[in-house]
Amino acid sequence: MTYTKRKDGRKFDEPREMEAKVGVIKRADGSAMFRMGDTIAIAAVYGPRELHPRFLQNPQKGVLRCIYDMCSFSVTERKRPGPSRRSTEISMVTKNALLSVVNLDKFPSAVVDVFINVIQANAGTRCVGINAAALALADAGIPMRDLVSAVAVGSVGTKIVVDLDKYEEDHEEGSTDIPVAMIPGTNKVVLLQLDGAVKKEALKEALKMAKKTCSDVYKIQKKALKTAYPGALL
Ligand code: ADP
Repeated sequence: MTYTKRKDGRKFDEPREMEAKVGVIKRADGSAMFRMGDTIAIAAVYGPRELHPRFLQNPQKGVLRCIYDMCSFSVTERKRPGPSRRSTEISMVTKNALLSVVNLDKFPSAVVDVFINVIQANAGTRCVGINAAALALADAGIPMRDLVSAVAVGSVGTKIVVDLDKYEEDHEEGSTDIPVAMIPGTNKVVLLQLDGAVKKEALKEALKMAKKTCSDVYKIQKKALKTAYPGALL
């Protein structure tokens, strides 16, 4: 049996419905929500502010810190609260992806903290978290070369698909999940993880799909910023 039709009726290269909003956490210096289907992430940014303890400071430039977490109520089986190996890894790859666009040269000895919370999870949370975090950093006025836009691509059985949901990730025909984050202006890949095996040709096709969908994500991100900052040149 081959995977011929997606359960939710989407085309194989069609992402889930997307939505974005900035300024959702008023007390934060910057914040945003990003939704892809049933996966929703909120990101809040604090800083630049002086980094304590001082031995962690970099006198040349500011430091970026990133914490990704999933709320206990984000999945149907209550997720155990607190950090895990998974959340530590996702925090690290998210930070590295964002560092490729953030410029903290003007903020020596300071820190910018990015907190990402997934309030509802149905696969693709690291990508949705990155999309929200990039928007929250822009909302905080942190100097950035561009945004970062992300989506997971992969395969279900022999089919290449974009933006897998949990049903597809756990499919009986076997699946491969490839989260990809890009700098939309240059198409530079700043995150690529591969969970499983994939043939070279399939990877090429999946990356093509990721590029196309990342540009759709970018449009949604820019629209959210334009709504919040009507006069801004974006
Ligand atoms: P991503 O969310 O980036 O795709 P994973 O592949 O690790 O990362 O997770 C896939 C999905 O599995 C998540 O989006 C979520 O729906 C589910 N999931 C992850 N961790 C847990 C957990 N501790 N409890 C229940 N479901 C989880």
